[in-house]
Amino acid sequence: MTVTNTTDEPDRPPLERLIGFDTLSRPLESWYAFVSRLIRANLLNDVDIRKQLPVDWVRCAFAPQAIQTSDLAIPTPYVDQLPDAALKLRPVTWQPFPELSSAPPECLRGCPSCLEAGYHSYAMQGDAIARCPVHDEPLVHRCPHCDTQLLWLARSPGLSAFQCPAGCPLLEGTHSGLHVPHEDQITAALEEHLVWTQALREAIAFVSGPVHIAYPPYLAVAPMRMPPLPSIGLLPALLHALKETGLAVPAFAPFHEQSNGRWTLKVEPWTWNGADPRDESHLEAYRRAFRRSAYRTYVPLVDRVSFEQWLARSEDAHGKWHEGGVEEGSTCATFVLASYMVTNNELVALRRLLARDSNPGLACAHYTQVLINLLEHARLRRTALDQLEEPSLHVTVAEAFDVIVCTAAGHYRVSGETRGDDASRHTWLDFRELAEMAGGMIHVMRKYGPR
Ligand SMILES: [Zn+2]
Ligand SMILES: [Zn+2]
Repeated sequence: MTVTNTTDEPDRPPLERLIGFDTLSRPLESWYAFVSRLIRANLLNDVDIRKQLPVDWVRCAFAPQAIQTSDLAIPTPYVDQLPDAALKLRPVTWQPFPELSSAPPECLRGCPSCLEAGYHSYAMQGDAIARCPVHDEPLVHRCPHCDTQLLWLARSPGLSAFQCPAGCPLLEGTHSGLHVPHEDQITAALEEHLVWTQALREAIAFVSGPVHIAYPPYLAVAPMRMPPLPSIGLLPALLHALKETGLAVPAFAPFHEQSNGRWTLKVEPWTWNGADPRDESHLEAYRRAFRRSAYRTYVPLVDRVSFEQWLARSEDAHGKWHEGGVEEGSTCATFVLASYMVTNNELVALRRLLARDSNPGLACAHYTQVLINLLEHARLRRTALDQLEEPSLHVTVAEAFDVIVCTAAGHYRVSGETRGDDASRHTWLDFRELAEMAGGMIHVMRKYGPR
């Protein structure tokens, strides 16, 4: 649908006549801030908003992560005049690798002082920027007054414009946002951030993955989100790790997130048989082979030889720990194991690896390695759960990460993990996770749990 103007809808006064319309020209400010300002500065209630603002404008402002590239044509003609409409309309344009961000995309994230002045930019949405370049305050996605998450559209647009879902005003006093103090400084700093973001994208390309697996009970504190977001520090950890290969990574600005959090990553040069003739139809067969029921889980084996070699070594060393085996299916061989041995998170991660890669040969090689690592982890966890009275590292809260990147110096595999505190082990005593793949509950329990 195209945006209509006054000639089609005689009831609507020209948009240009709204107070604050000229702030459309702030190039790096978000569409949310612009539309919210129109709402606040013109004292529009929800009825007025429907009458006076194009419905797509409101949608773009309060559900920006749902915007598709094709939607960028919607708010014409005004947005056509902007130097780069995507910077104003799409949070993801500002993030070099959105999958690494720990900030929830469904929430507004910004500097409390900038928000008080009626300013917000999508540059502040991911977690690459830790502190406001001008106010030096930590960026937040929770209300500074009551700690409620700042969901974009928790209430009606009229009530969600610069207010937290619980109703606290984010603007200071009667600030209209028409004049933003330090606007030039903020814009200059965000321009610097944009250059940094673009340099990262040029230096590093993700060619397979990223895989992020959160080990329960992390899920318990991130309800309803699939997949869970990585904890803070993954992007800096990746950059620090890649720097050690000699790669020229753009330097951090003082306002960037520079802490690795609890992440420890390692980098290895990556080689694979580039002549592997697999194609999209192979990948599709492997994807279809994933199957999970309450008792048995089927995981496709894309490289049966390497897998069986590893399995034989593992059984020699540890005995038979998986209560399953390799089965020849109609489209491909699968490894069948007790469902409680692997978590939904792990299965989803494996499946994604085969779902989104443009180079099937590379994706299959990466998948095989991730699968083997994952089953090693499952074995150790199984042993640890069976002996819970002797706490083990393998039942703490943890996250795993794996990606194949392409840089000027070649391909690298970057992999690693986080670990929670020792106390987090106890949450495994009664842990269950919702099954995503085949309904019902999948229980991850001790040896004599459901099979
Ligand atoms: Zn600020
Ligand atoms: Zn609040």
